[in-house]
Amino acid sequence: MTIKTLYRRLGAVLLGFAGASAAIAADPLNVTGDKFRQLEELLPTPNTYRAASGAPGHEYWQQQADYDIKVSLDDDKQRITASETITYTNNSPDTLRYLWVQLDQNRFKPNSSGNLAAPVDVESIAPDTIPFRSFRREVVSRDFQGGYDITKVADARGRDLRHTIVDTNMRIDLPQPLKSGDGVTFQIGWEYNIIEQKALGGRSGYEYFERDGNYLYEIAQWFPRMAAYNDVSGWQNKQFLGRGEFALEFGDYRVAIEVPADHIVASTGVLQNPQDVLTREQRARLKKAETAKKPVMIVTKEEALENEKDRATARKTWVFEAENVRDFAWASSRKFLWDAQGYKKGGTDTMAMSYYPEEGTPLWDKYSTEAIIHTMEVFNRYSFDYPYPTSISVNGPVGGMEYPMITFNGPRPEIDEEDRSKRTYSRRTKYGLISVIIHEVGHNYYPMIVNSDERQWTWMDEGLNTYVQFLAEQEWEEKYPSRRGDARKIIDYMKSENQVPIMTNSESILQFGNNAYGKPATALNILRETVMGRELFDFAFREYSQRWKFKRPMPADFFRTMEDASGMDLDWFWRGWFYTTDNVDISIDAVKHYTVGTKNPDVEGPWKRERFEEEPESVTKQKNRANKMTRIVDGKPELADFYNEHDEFDVSNADRNRYRGMLDGLEDWERDLLKVESNVYVLNFSNIGGLVMPIILKLDYTDGSSEELRIPAEIWTRNAAKTSKMLVRGKDKLLKSVVVDPHWETADVDVENNHYPRRIIKSRLELFKDEKARNLMKDWQEELKED
Ligand SMILES: [Zn+2]
Repeated sequence: MTIKTLYRRLGAVLLGFAGASAAIAADPLNVTGDKFRQLEELLPTPNTYRAASGAPGHEYWQQQADYDIKVSLDDDKQRITASETITYTNNSPDTLRYLWVQLDQNRFKPNSSGNLAAPVDVESIAPDTIPFRSFRREVVSRDFQGGYDITKVADARGRDLRHTIVDTNMRIDLPQPLKSGDGVTFQIGWEYNIIEQKALGGRSGYEYFERDGNYLYEIAQWFPRMAAYNDVSGWQNKQFLGRGEFALEFGDYRVAIEVPADHIVASTGVLQNPQDVLTREQRARLKKAETAKKPVMIVTKEEALENEKDRATARKTWVFEAENVRDFAWASSRKFLWDAQGYKKGGTDTMAMSYYPEEGTPLWDKYSTEAIIHTMEVFNRYSFDYPYPTSISVNGPVGGMEYPMITFNGPRPEIDEEDRSKRTYSRRTKYGLISVIIHEVGHNYYPMIVNSDERQWTWMDEGLNTYVQFLAEQEWEEKYPSRRGDARKIIDYMKSENQVPIMTNSESILQFGNNAYGKPATALNILRETVMGRELFDFAFREYSQRWKFKRPMPADFFRTMEDASGMDLDWFWRGWFYTTDNVDISIDAVKHYTVGTKNPDVEGPWKRERFEEEPESVTKQKNRANKMTRIVDGKPELADFYNEHDEFDVSNADRNRYRGMLDGLEDWERDLLKVESNVYVLNFSNIGGLVMPIILKLDYTDGSSEELRIPAEIWTRNAAKTSKMLVRGKDKLLKSVVVDPHWETADVDVENNHYPRRIIKSRLELFKDEKARNLMKDWQEELKED
């Protein structure tokens, strides 16, 4: 897979530069050269599946995978036992002799590739240092018996199918080749031990509450799922190493979840049997919530606290159905409080719901469901109307993770164990919670519906989603402390050395959060605010979202659609921001002030003399004058002549006659230009960071007025390292100073060279006091404190 993709990407370049292999090795994407070179050579050739416009082609296809699953949760052993029937429809033009199924839980087998190949960095924080959390993972993962026990792989009639497990994937060999347009139904049975999320990390798992002895389960990547098969990668069967997320097919699900009778289950899909699992009162509350103006408690705090005291021995089965989703996740616990509020607008008609243990209050009851609805409100405007019937936020061990209709979100208040009613939370926790809910609910749009290949391209969902998340945060409250999106927040990363381009496979990304979330989100925000303008950007971004909802876009489809819908050539932007690690650092190096030379000797002579007299006097002359030097001509005036009366600036009639003759030889319009009394400025810029960007200028004049000028990035087309701009201003407009990027909107990493003239930099000098050396003799006298 890797090699195939690599060749496709290099193919065009190799053809164009056959023989120049050294240059290709050093710069295979030709990014150091022509920064405005079109991307066609790098992007895959358009075809009938993916059009040159960036839209799905007229023969676009994708596979369909439908699931019928029965699962049982063992609350004593923290174990899953399940079976499924998968109906797979081959909409591709190809005949398939085998199918690939993802076995994500195998990532937690002690000898998984993900475990064996996990690099360690004991230098990143300080030499020979590792966080407790990371070391715990190393220790626990050695012994934890994770991964699937596959108990059955059989056809629809129960006959065993040949299958081969390859780490986190399984190949199932088909007895009959699956022809284009045909479907196949088969069954898989499995069991696995649920991981303790806090010990092993990951995107699902259980949390144990020591105080009341209860468990809370967030269950995901829990069933063998069809690997994606598509026109770009064939089977996307890259192993799950832990970072690159999921490439999945859409399908319909029916899932029966058997849990202890006192559990509350939150799940992808719509509950099919509320009469079996909910009380009459809970059902009435849910009905009321549909039209409520604020969240309605379906399970109150008092009820949840009552639930967590007992252990039901009876079991209940919750049945959910979901249509056209690419995945399915759920959560279960007897600790859950549950609130809900309907949200109906445009094409959206959904129930926003939150599930959280009592430990999540007072944050979760106040913010979670409100944040879900706010997310849909904003994302709908920039993308498309949220199409699913529910949208859920669950509080549990997972810090933040997304699935269709359901998200797992971590932050909780701090509880004073002496008095559990005393609860506080930091500013970071409050906004962290709102932001993570916006982010994870936002993932319903990217990639749950705009179904990009996460195993390959993290930025396509994280970056786009983080960008819209920023817009949603800014609509929450005026001073919302967004961590990502604003240009100035990305500068430290852009300056850093250990980074790779955004267009890098998920597993190889350095500085993951900055690379795949922060930088693309910021780049899109800059593209919107500074390069394209809001109207053009929003139209194009929405067009991309509409074109690719419930389909699988690739990077080129995004790049091409943004240009196709806006009419702007953005190849330079994609090339710089997505294919390189250059940064923005534009320096204003010089400003020259011109007035137009009149060629009239009676004007130019005196002008030149003035300039001459402005020059500083030589020190020799100064000292000679101070010494009252006497010169020979002073003593002998007969030595003076014509040239002692006339200097080189004096104008003669011959000069005047030549001037008139010259004027006679000029056209009228040429003569007019000689009379222009404008102030002309030439500004010289250099590009130190490498990224070509628009130059935004604030021009301050001596009369107190000020002007903003926005020069498009194309000013760098002929020379990406140095460029100049001429400004023609009126007779009275005298330029006093110039500032590049005055609003800090381009992520310029060095703003000091943005000032002309340069300014004095204000900062603080911090004084440092040496720590005292250890005094063992004194320390020896100290008594041991009681526990
Ligand atoms: Zn995310």
